[in-house]
Amino acid sequence: MFQKVKGFQDTYGDDCACWEKAESIMRDTFALFLVREIRLPILEKTAVFNRGIGQTTDIVEKEMFTFADRDRADSEGELLSLRPEGTAGTVRAYIENGLYNPPGIKKLYYSGPMFRREKPQKGRYRQFSQCGAEFIGSSSPLADADAINLLITYFDRVNISRFTHLEINSVGCPLCRPEYHSKLTGYFNKHKDGLCADCNRRLTKNPLRILDCKNENCGKIIKNASVMLDSLCPECAEHFESVKMYLDALNVKYIINPFMVRGLDYYVRTAFEVVTAELGAASAVGGGGRYDGLVETLGGPAVPGVGFAIGMDRVVALMKLSEEFKQTPPKAFIVTFGGKVKNSEIALLNRLRAQNIPVEIDYDGKGMKSQLKQADRTGAKYAVIAGEEEMNRGAVMLRNLSSSTQEEVSIADLILKIGNNHPFNFL
Ligand SMILES: [Zn+2]
Ligand SMILES: [Zn+2]
Repeated sequence: MFQKVKGFQDTYGDDCACWEKAESIMRDTFALFLVREIRLPILEKTAVFNRGIGQTTDIVEKEMFTFADRDRADSEGELLSLRPEGTAGTVRAYIENGLYNPPGIKKLYYSGPMFRREKPQKGRYRQFSQCGAEFIGSSSPLADADAINLLITYFDRVNISRFTHLEINSVGCPLCRPEYHSKLTGYFNKHKDGLCADCNRRLTKNPLRILDCKNENCGKIIKNASVMLDSLCPECAEHFESVKMYLDALNVKYIINPFMVRGLDYYVRTAFEVVTAELGAASAVGGGGRYDGLVETLGGPAVPGVGFAIGMDRVVALMKLSEEFKQTPPKAFIVTFGGKVKNSEIALLNRLRAQNIPVEIDYDGKGMKSQLKQADRTGAKYAVIAGEEEMNRGAVMLRNLSSSTQEEVSIADLILKIGNNHPFNFL
């Protein structure tokens, strides 16, 4: 017997009912905000992620599934990676397909599996599902606020807002960040000995990432570090004020977390995260930020953008905390006469399906008693007993499985009674 690869998962049964709901509400919410779907490859050239996400991020340094494309003529083969996130690929597609023409904002969303080669642990999988929206083409703080609004609207609609809260921050821009970086580097250099090995490495590469460290000793030092919010240039400060003002106008509640840095290098100005305390260490359910230089970095025109990603596995985990999800049972179960299923019974099955009524039948010709038991187990509301005599009269016995009452009805009436949303559904 084979077992699935560690860190990967199978999803089936009632769990799928929850996933279907999470995904259909996701699509409805994106449609409401006129964010259009973009369907992207799961595989990209590794360089897209190296360039797009940043060489010093954990994702690119150690978490990508990368392999050489051996179909290439040269012996080395170009490096390809399974996508670890969706933004870099979306921006690559935006540029490659010339979506910056005509100019103006493009609101795009993607959804599907992402892959990270991290050590499997609770709430973290090596294949996980994300959806995300990218608003590309506006530098207005209203774009930031409305993107956040979309994220929060979705969490409201899947009914998990009470488990989460929104944190926002500004991570500055290439004008004001260098000065803050040297201030931060100076401070952490003074406390070098108290920092963990990872942070000592970050100190030379990207001191901002130290603020993200969960190590207890590092935490004590981080607590007294200066924050970006105190070092913003006037433009960044004004942008952040406007984002807050628009969030207030949109009635979106938030907490300012000056220590929040996202795990990606491309963010400028606004960064945000939706956080939960319900899922252990994996606390972020969604998050994003502004990435004004990213399109240019990946070889496109200088077009600003802002976006977010949602961890759908965590959304589903939160939805299941307060609601039970069940797959839709059949409307009815056709109980056949027994033995080989007759053509008249198959015709009845077809007729009900043609009316969009999900109906079950026993393929194997079991006895009637066993079929009725089976009907009960499926959760069907009705058993349609296709007795030979009744069928000859163009009728069937309709048995309500919860009240155990039954009556003879004509097949035309049957469709009215068990049909989907029919006003005469009086049984
Ligand atoms: Zn700035
Ligand atoms: Zn540390």
